[in-house]
Amino acid sequence: MSLSIDLHTHSTASDGTLAPEALVERAHAHGVQVLALTDHDETLGLAPAAARARALGLHFVPGVEISVTWEQRTLHIVGLGIDADHAGLNAGLAQLRAGRETRAREMARRLSTFGFADAYEGALQFVSNPALISRTHFARFLVQQGHCRDMQKVFDRYLGDGKPADVPTQWAGLDQTVRWIRAAGGRAVIAHPGRYRLGKRQALRLYRQFLQLGGCGIEVITGSHAPEQCATYARVARAQGFMASVGSDFHAVGDGRRELGALPPLPADLTPVWQGWFEGEGR
Ligand code: AMP
Ligand code: MN
Ligand code: MN
Ligand code: MN
Repeated sequence: MSLSIDLHTHSTASDGTLAPEALVERAHAHGVQVLALTDHDETLGLAPAAARARALGLHFVPGVEISVTWEQRTLHIVGLGIDADHAGLNAGLAQLRAGRETRAREMARRLSTFGFADAYEGALQFVSNPALISRTHFARFLVQQGHCRDMQKVFDRYLGDGKPADVPTQWAGLDQTVRWIRAAGGRAVIAHPGRYRLGKRQALRLYRQFLQLGGCGIEVITGSHAPEQCATYARVARAQGFMASVGSDFHAVGDGRRELGALPPLPADLTPVWQGWFEGEGR
């Protein structure tokens, strides 16, 4: 029997709606045996999540999802198996988070031009970690107010990459990001590659640069991929020599995205990103 593994999830430490402990409990209840918490640009949830996982006998992988600007676009790089207390990594992440409040105020200003008043205060109602206000919190507010039917509509019209209320942001460099993750003892993984709409040559450039910098993985199975995209990125993993990762990208119960522990298995010939992690544990 194969392990149930989920290596990409969010808690209230970033834009998820479950507290880290509650996330771990839900994963456990859904049969997940190996879980990574990967909040955006933040490690705050890792200690409480690890403690709850220990109590439940679930294998916990400390992680993070870092916002990156590469060739003028935003990418997400997941770090897995990091030391949550690593000073260099945490200093870098703190710097990344620091720009979010100004960015959020500008988002609110832009949303006001569409007739949506007080979006900053509105989004704040959904924020648990004051250092991490994100587009997701604005989207939840616009849905709550009845301005949009669902989150997808908000991103399609206003907040998605390049849409009018998406404020261009300079995130971390790809090289810097891979260095932080590696310095903290982690494996760097390209998150949801199917979402970036890169041209063939640009995608190849990303894969080669990333591997050269010391990145090693790519998400093949993710809640963001349609079945045919899983097949596409399985081929990419084989052709480029990536380790393959699996994650729901769970944010909230019933938000139309993947539930915890509901992911198809990785094609058997791929090298899993967790290779070597469970040695000596009889797995
Ligand atoms: P931010 O870190 O503030 O740029 O917010 C990015 C977050 O917005 C992502 O991590 C997703 O949770 C969410 N997001 C982005 N695009 C979409 C989308 N099309 N539908 C739903 N959520 C999205
Ligand atoms: Mn998110
Ligand atoms: Mn992401
Ligand atoms: Mn994510």
